[in-house]
Amino acid sequence: MKILGLPVAPGITIIEQLDTWGISRKEFALRMDYSEKHMIDILKGKSEITTEIANRLASVLGIPADFWLGLEQIYRLSLKKKEEEERIEEEEKILNKIPYLDMVNQGWVASTRIVVEKIRNLKEYFGVAKLLKIQQTENVAFRISSKYQSSSYAIAAWLRKGQIDIREKIDYPEFDKSKILTEVIPEIKNSLIHETNIFNVNKLLIGILKKAGIYFTVTQSISKASINGAVTWINKRPLIQMSLKGKFADIFWFTLFHELGHIYFEHSKKEVILDLSNESTGSEILENQANNFAVKFLYPKEFANLAKKSLISKGDIMKFSKKYNLLVGIILGRLMHDEVLDWSQYSELRVKLK
Ligand SMILES: [Zn+2]
Repeated sequence: MKILGLPVAPGITIIEQLDTWGISRKEFALRMDYSEKHMIDILKGKSEITTEIANRLASVLGIPADFWLGLEQIYRLSLKKKEEEERIEEEEKILNKIPYLDMVNQGWVASTRIVVEKIRNLKEYFGVAKLLKIQQTENVAFRISSKYQSSSYAIAAWLRKGQIDIREKIDYPEFDKSKILTEVIPEIKNSLIHETNIFNVNKLLIGILKKAGIYFTVTQSISKASINGAVTWINKRPLIQMSLKGKFADIFWFTLFHELGHIYFEHSKKEVILDLSNESTGSEILENQANNFAVKFLYPKEFANLAKKSLISKGDIMKFSKKYNLLVGIILGRLMHDEVLDWSQYSELRVKLK
């Protein structure tokens, strides 16, 4: 029975009968041979009408048992349907905050126009029974400053992709911090830092970092998730997740060395460290430590002398690049970042990963 869209308990029909025949609740309980409390539960729909109750109702009210059982069945079904509708409504509100189309464009979820399918795909993607839970499972994305609040779900989706990417990497060496200095950094600087092909960089980095038991993955950035990189500890191993935002080689390598710094100092092993374009979830102390690490290991000591020069020519940069075997773009990017050079100066020398 459905009135104004709300499920109506069979108890209402019983009350109508009692009112029609002028039977009090007390008398009704007596005739049914139930306690008054039990009777009230039946009238309010709290107690289900069983065959036993339906038989007693038939004797007391003169209306057959199958009528009452039928009412009960309709009531329970409409309750279930209403619950389901409310649940989908609730999930739809969250769905509207998730950049589904961006995720489709990246190939993270399947394209569909059906709301229920979108919800199902997202539950699978985030590994939750209800979309409401994403706020807790990806809580770092939701704790960052208010100006990013509208993009919390975009950041959550981006971070989750990293976890999905490494799910199958079961056979991985144990994390060995000392190898960051003895193997990872020397190998990157000797063999990789001049490489500008994204596919090669990605493939080679995975191999080099694996030696120290560090996972690596590149996750393209999506709109409203302005992330450079992140470190997440999974299975006692760190995962470096990079976005290639802007694709500038200097930003990419500096971010990578910055994340290596977070890992080397074993910052925040319990929580994701998220490095956004203009802020980070790590404390200022941790951020400075990671930045200093990157400067120390990415640039030779003599870099300070170059930066001190009052007039830096193109030739100076080229010469320095050759001498210290460092990509011109990486030198230039640092000089710009430190405001020694203006962003427009020699910008043609800046290198992008392709
Ligand atoms: Zn950081």
